[in-house]
Amino acid sequence: VRDADPPEDEGELAIEGALRPTSLADFVGQHKVRGQLQLLLDAARIQQRSPDHILLSGPPGLGKTTLAMIVAHESERPLRLSSGPAIQHAGDLAALLSSLTPGEVLFIDEVHRMARSAEEMLYLAMEDFRIDIMVGKGAGATSIPLDLAPFTLVGATTRSGLLPNPLRDRFGFTAHLEYYEPEELERVVERSSAMLGVPLPPLARAEIARRSRGTPRIANRLLRRVRDYLVVHGELDADLDAVGAALTLYDVDSIGLDRLDRAVLDALVRRFRGGPVGLSTLAVAVGEEAETIESVVEPYLVRIGFMGRTPRGRIATPAAAAHLGVHADDGALR
Ligand code: ADP
Repeated sequence: VRDADPPEDEGELAIEGALRPTSLADFVGQHKVRGQLQLLLDAARIQQRSPDHILLSGPPGLGKTTLAMIVAHESERPLRLSSGPAIQHAGDLAALLSSLTPGEVLFIDEVHRMARSAEEMLYLAMEDFRIDIMVGKGAGATSIPLDLAPFTLVGATTRSGLLPNPLRDRFGFTAHLEYYEPEELERVVERSSAMLGVPLPPLARAEIARRSRGTPRIANRLLRRVRDYLVVHGELDADLDAVGAALTLYDVDSIGLDRLDRAVLDALVRRFRGGPVGLSTLAVAVGEEAETIESVVEPYLVRIGFMGRTPRGRIATPAAAAHLGVHADDGALR
């Protein structure tokens, strides 16, 4: 499954890393989650123990990895990064867990995509800091218990609904990250543009924020494209025209929808006449994996009122048709 906005290359990845806030105080928005995390970390510090396991859910690019890094940084613990797809067998997880140093923070991205056998091993590890390793096969197989150093698991998922209940229940704290408000994204852009040395007037910052799909990663990425545009065109200051021109070049429309968002809306409105249509049919129509549509495209389109979910399938709203320039009396949206 591809991410909505994978950093384009190593250089971009490095920039994305450099723009990450390292403390809760620097982390923009998500007011409630920040307060809850602060309390959790403070309590652990006072009691001199590892913070409870933390589950973060929400669409890509909203700050889950960043928060995991902040948890490690603020609690002054080392951080280990892994991901569900990298854990294909219980043995992979056993090797990972047994190599942790005491108190280490273990981040597992896409934790819902871990192998089932590993999931079961993780239950015991999270609860008792212990795993059972199976040795041998068949009738002679025995399990050897192995004690682990205490650790804090930070799990991230775009789809908390896909996590089995026993796993979800073992997290002491669960937070859902919401899309950001335009004013919050403006602060992200302001902070990043200062760090990248790109001077932007407030109107230009607001324009980038407005077109960022509620997502800090996208705000940072659009800012870099605007910077490229300014460099190439030899302009010192960004004005609204430059921002608009740069973003249009990259297929970002006036409200921030990208090519895939528009392809999905277009299929829903024109081809399926507003729906309802099943997720898999919709995915085939736009040539994309159903999981990408469901975890990346749909949440934002639902949030801005362009798409709806009904028991019979996905539907487009009149607002979506209007955005595409299709009128209800053209036969779409029966
Ligand atoms: P996720 O793990 O949810 O996909 P990341 O934590 O990798 O998202 O965040 C993507 C980028 O967005 C990072 O470069 C980070 O700097 C930026 N970012 C995310 N959330 C915030 C925030 N609240 N404040 C400032 N920057 C943020």
